[in-house]
Amino acid sequence: MVVELVCVGTELLLGNIVNTNAAFLARQCAMLGLSMYHQSVVGDNEERLKETIRTALDRSDIVILCGGLGPTQDDLTKETAAAVMGFPLVEDAHSKERIEEYFKNSPFKIITDNNWKQALVPEGCIVIDNHNGTAPGIIMEKDGKSMILLPGPPNELIPMFHQDIFPYLNRLQPETIYSVMVKLCGVGESLVETEILDLIEAQENPTIATYAKTGEVHLRVTARASDEKEARKLLKPMLKELKKRFGSHIYATNEATTLEESIVALLKEKNLTLTTAESCTGGMLSARLTNVPGVSEVFKQGFVAYSNRAKRKLLDVKKNTLKTYGAVSEKTAKEMAKNGAFITGSDICVSITGLAGPDGGTETTPVGLVYIACAYQNELRIREFHFKGNRQKIRELSTVNALTLLRS
Ligand code: ATP
Ligand code: MG
Repeated sequence: MVVELVCVGTELLLGNIVNTNAAFLARQCAMLGLSMYHQSVVGDNEERLKETIRTALDRSDIVILCGGLGPTQDDLTKETAAAVMGFPLVEDAHSKERIEEYFKNSPFKIITDNNWKQALVPEGCIVIDNHNGTAPGIIMEKDGKSMILLPGPPNELIPMFHQDIFPYLNRLQPETIYSVMVKLCGVGESLVETEILDLIEAQENPTIATYAKTGEVHLRVTARASDEKEARKLLKPMLKELKKRFGSHIYATNEATTLEESIVALLKEKNLTLTTAESCTGGMLSARLTNVPGVSEVFKQGFVAYSNRAKRKLLDVKKNTLKTYGAVSEKTAKEMAKNGAFITGSDICVSITGLAGPDGGTETTPVGLVYIACAYQNELRIREFHFKGNRQKIRELSTVNALTLLRS
């Protein structure tokens, strides 16, 4: 099946917004095994939009349009697409009700006349509820072809795609696509790729794709089969092989679980409490941990000890340690972790101290030098990192590596 993408909006043509929807939709279509040979961007102009849609419809089985579904004058995707497909617009009672409902719960309680425009849909089409906005998605089918209209804002388009469009497209395909996300930490992308080079080279079904995230590597393993059960069966030996090769570096085998969630689950399972003692990350680590619902069972306290004085007062780091070795040193990181655990009575304390830059680097303490320590019972583990990147990147890498140290 051939799919084609048309993104609508003059803002895109002017470069005022980046076409992230195209990247997202293209990746999703590739995952579904659909072939995409063309993508276009067209401004908010009826004639040019018509011409683009006609061309796309001529050469592709499925046309996905995104943007221009809103209530304003320049939003003309629905009207134009329906005209090309030959469907008149009719009022959809369900969409009308949803618009009323949406405004009841919105701070802008007045429904202006143009909002009702969004309750008009091409006759006989499939209407897809928008749970994050007012413009519903629309699917039109005619002569074996499908046209899918999606709202432009990514926070509306992405959930709608996952919930309704992905399953719809999957049904159009003779085969089912089923994939599992294997998430790794504590191992670099190039090492992962080297380790699985043989699997990548031999891949047919299932296939493996690698994605590098900050401090993490994700592997999407995808199988095609007549149904989901068959696809799962095909995935099984590959997942087993990956577990054999990467062992404890794998922290999750599903899309939803985050690194911090896996750590909180681990701490709960082992009945251990945690404290954080942060310097250069200024609370990023505790912020990530406290994103996890139910973390209060295991998380005791988060120290942000940025200045030397704070390190002394809050965490009892010795004056002499700071003077002799400096704030960014193995010794300081160790004292922060050890004392943090002692002061709060936690089973574990992880500490971070480093130089995020861009200024202040010296030959002995260059920008990107970060020490992460972890105190657990009588054990004190320490890691030294030399991160590359800007301030934000160094802080993010510090945070993710502190989380990774907690898992090991
Ligand atoms: P609205 O109801 O907000 O008007 P719409 O479906 O009419 O939604 P547009 O008016 O085309 O969509 O775009 C609204 C906003 O959505 C844009 O300002 C932009 O922030 C975002 N957006 C639109 N298209 C894209 C795209 N291709 N990639 C990323 N963001 C986009
Ligand atoms: Mg709009």
